[in-house]
Amino acid sequence: MKCVLVTGGAGFLGSHLCDRLIQSGNHVICLDNFFTGTKDNIQHLMGDSHFELEEREIIWPYIKNVDEIYNLACPASPVHYQYDPVKTINTSVLGAINMLELAKGAGAKILQASTSEVYGDPVIHPQTEDYWGNVNPIGVRSCYDEGKRCAETLCMDYHRQMGVIVKIIRIFNTYGPRMAQNDGRVVSNFIVNALLGKDIEIYGDGTQTRSFQYVDDLIEGMIRVMNTEDEFTGPVNLGNPGEFTMLELANLVLELTGSKSDIVFSTLPKDDPRKRKPNITLAKTKLDWEPTIPLREGLLKTIDYFRSIL
Ligand code: NAD
Ligand code: UDP
Repeated sequence: MKCVLVTGGAGFLGSHLCDRLIQSGNHVICLDNFFTGTKDNIQHLMGDSHFELEEREIIWPYIKNVDEIYNLACPASPVHYQYDPVKTINTSVLGAINMLELAKGAGAKILQASTSEVYGDPVIHPQTEDYWGNVNPIGVRSCYDEGKRCAETLCMDYHRQMGVIVKIIRIFNTYGPRMAQNDGRVVSNFIVNALLGKDIEIYGDGTQTRSFQYVDDLIEGMIRVMNTEDEFTGPVNLGNPGEFTMLELANLVLELTGSKSDIVFSTLPKDDPRKRKPNITLAKTKLDWEPTIPLREGLLKTIDYFRSIL
């Protein structure tokens, strides 16, 4: 039985990953400071003898004998990562150092949850892994983008310099059950407001695009990346190449919820990427992976979830 550490394990993605790892017969340690994660997300695992909760800060060193580490701890929604930007950078950079040191000491493999945000406001479309990105280093999003870029750098340097087995995944916008009601990202905002009959607020004119991946597809991809041969470091894009404008998303949410909410427009936040879509050729060839859940189907599952908690 493997001992697997999941940092950020009480968050949206982390809690689904913990479920999957427990189901596959692993011993799971969930490290989280509950900044954006909740006990509700992991409540159903608490009685399991193979599930351990470590309520702690990733910015403090941590020593444990583990076989694998999935490093997900970091606020991911712009609202939350911009709340305390210095803390966000510390979480990404010191967090990565602490987890890489842990991996080095324990001889463990580590998978780093990076992001499509490393491409910034991309001028190459769709984005391939060899694109170096277009990130504003001094803008309001850079605490997240540059923190994640630095974490990638640290992974590659620990790999080259110390032989640590690292895997970098670049996750594109992922949604699904257990997103927090106040998460602030577009899918949960639109669904929650549609269900409550409140206005759906589009930032800007709604022509900006994103590619939305359902959580189960991502979790499958993460496990496959962890199981690649030791030499494979990535980075590898994990996302659904379906590309939608925010106006299309708003209309689809209205249709699927049957809501009578109005769509209203407000100011576009600074440095908001204009378009984003993954090229997933590498994931397809290397992992034999591609998303299986189309947006409409994933939204219906997510709407069911929010209906049940609202
Ligand atoms: P989330 O906010 O639900 O989860 C983040 C988790 O990390 C939370 O449980 C939070 O409490 C924990 N955390 C934050 N700071 C911490 C700290 N200093 N110490 C310990 N724990 C801390 O967000 P998510 O969508 O589940 O994202 C998980 C990871 O995936 C993040 O690293 C994020 O950058 C990455 N990612 C997510 C997406 C997406 O679309 N969901 C896209 C790209 C990358
Ligand atoms: N957005 C929006 N209304 C909202 C939340 C977000 O129009 O209530 C827009 C946001 O400006 C961006 C897109 O939706 O263009 C995706 O935003 P999100 O915060 O979900 O993810 P990210 O920008 O990090 O990809």
